[in-house]
Amino acid sequence: MRGSGLLDEAVVMQALEAVKDPEIPVVSVVELGIVQAVQVDSASGAVVVSITPTFSGCPALDLMRTAIESCVLDLGASAVRVEVVLDPPWTSDRIAPEARARMQAIGLAPPPPVGRFRTDISLTLEPLLASEDPVPCPYCGSSQTVMENGFGPTICRSAHYCNGCLQSFEAFKAL
Ligand SMILES: [Zn+2]
Repeated sequence: MRGSGLLDEAVVMQALEAVKDPEIPVVSVVELGIVQAVQVDSASGAVVVSITPTFSGCPALDLMRTAIESCVLDLGASAVRVEVVLDPPWTSDRIAPEARARMQAIGLAPPPPVGRFRTDISLTLEPLLASEDPVPCPYCGSSQTVMENGFGPTICRSAHYCNGCLQSFEAFKAL
């Protein structure tokens, strides 16, 4: 497939790094593991992007779809189709380690690894946590935290309070 057209899968995938998750503007849809596959029809220049949304029903899905479409069209694709793939479901283990670090830097605790689909144990930054364990504070690292509200500002996040540095923070839910 490579070579004959202007576009190939790697070029499209690289361009999609510029499409950030609408709810987490510091990480891309590629780093979040939302983009599953890119197919380029080199004859027609048409592109199909397969995505698995982080949470089905996440209101960000439409925004993300539109952003992906315009990104691919900007590359010169003749047409673009965004396909939603729900099986296998997205898991927070698909979030790239660099993206976890950047989420932490903006005070959004990355989800603990859940262990499903993991192929390389060295990818995880934190020790495996049971889901009922407190979420470590992204600011000070303290585990003296309490969940304030299981439903944060979006269904993807939960709200927490750190008794170590007395700050509230959000956590991206593990699933
Ligand atoms: Zn703290």
